[in-house]
Amino acid sequence: MRHVAIIGSGPAGFYSAEALEKALGGDAVRIDLIDRLPVPYGLIRSGVAPDHQPIKAVSRRYEKVALNDAARFVGNVAVGTDVAIDELLQLYDAVILATGAPADRPLGIPGADLPGVIGSAAFVGWYNGHPDFAALDPPLAGGAAAVIGNGTVALDVARILAKVPAEFAGSDIAAHAFAALGNSAVRRITILGRRGPHQIQMTPKELGELGHLAGAAPEVEAGDLPPPEADAALEPGQRKSVALLREFAAAPPDKPKTIAFDFFARPVAVEGDGRAERLRVERTRLGPEGAAAGTGEFYTVPAELVISCIGYRSPPIAGLPYDEGAGRFPNQAGRIADRLYGVGWATRGPTGTIGTNRPDGFAVAERIVAEVPGGGRAGGAGLDALLAERGARPVSFTDWQRIETAETGRARPGAPREKFASLAEMLRAIEG
Ligand code: NAP
Repeated sequence: MRHVAIIGSGPAGFYSAEALEKALGGDAVRIDLIDRLPVPYGLIRSGVAPDHQPIKAVSRRYEKVALNDAARFVGNVAVGTDVAIDELLQLYDAVILATGAPADRPLGIPGADLPGVIGSAAFVGWYNGHPDFAALDPPLAGGAAAVIGNGTVALDVARILAKVPAEFAGSDIAAHAFAALGNSAVRRITILGRRGPHQIQMTPKELGELGHLAGAAPEVEAGDLPPPEADAALEPGQRKSVALLREFAAAPPDKPKTIAFDFFARPVAVEGDGRAERLRVERTRLGPEGAAAGTGEFYTVPAELVISCIGYRSPPIAGLPYDEGAGRFPNQAGRIADRLYGVGWATRGPTGTIGTNRPDGFAVAERIVAEVPGGGRAGGAGLDALLAERGARPVSFTDWQRIETAETGRARPGAPREKFASLAEMLRAIEG
């Protein structure tokens, strides 16, 4: 019998558990999926946009993994606080770090600490009902917002800011965000990219959605686009995205709200009297090797709300090697240290889709089968004893199902669930 602890119950954690179940079978492995929240699924619950429910359906696959006799969900247990990594390595034959990259990469420009400047992890967590960000209260009373970054998260954020309440039908947007966005005064959302249309990292599906919103329309300056014949060199997905930008450029915005693409625009400071009021931006051009090069031309973009969508980091964990520059845990093909492995964004960095985590899971399972002989360790029973000694309150998968039933039961009409946005409410829902 091999005892494996997986820290984090998002996609990377669940694909690892699934692969271990497949590789070793029910009699040869016991897996504990440990999460600091009382609820599973990580990015699926707290990161995937609430109006993209079909993507969230993958959690049904993870549910099957959790219901297998070989696996347990151990929620509401914070590694580092309730139990140390070293202790897990004593209790389990192998430990897999699947903690993702839940922190924002710092914007690192003057004024970035002004009220009104928010990272996408916080803003996305807020509209998705993550307990850490439920109290965020982003300023929505001004007329203008700036979204920094040209990735798909920037599109999610701009779309959520732009939608009218009816467009959230069938979504599980948190009630506090639904109410606040319904009263939002934001009419102009500027998406700033420090490079050009050919350098965007936006998926065509999410980009295309901006062309079909009820109350908002995209705005692209035709002059920012390279000559059409240059698109032939792009890979097909990127060519599709650029074609959408060309469509947007051909149709002037005609809705109450505008989502303006500002390319070749590098924010250099957030300015304002005690809070964000505008961005100071340097015009760029493509420099050597495609990097953004400053032109020395500066201008301002009004923005009482600034959301930076420039990527994520994994917070360091005491006692583990950490790559400060990359914001992740250094590893050799998934191995961090003896019997300690990493999967997903914690070791690979914040790129790729949910499905990209699947091969990570299979690779780590293979390594564990080959490198870690089982035997003699206490596993989950040992963890339970330790947690009981410390007065922790672990949450089982059955407990989570009670939370889920309560969330489903209190959903707005047509919505799949209304998430509890505090640990206290989640724990109360278990008691019934
Ligand atoms: P991303 O795709 O890495 O994009 C980050 C963007 O931020 C880039 O445009 C980058 O520009 C820009 N940036 C970085 N540092 C900057 C700075 N200091 N100033 C200005 N701009 C800066 O990251 P993401 O949007 O957070 O997405 C993370 C991952 O999740 C991606 O793999 C994405 O595809 C995935 N995702 C997928 C979906 C979906 O499939 N539905 C939805 C959301 C996210 P440069 O290119 O110039 O560096």
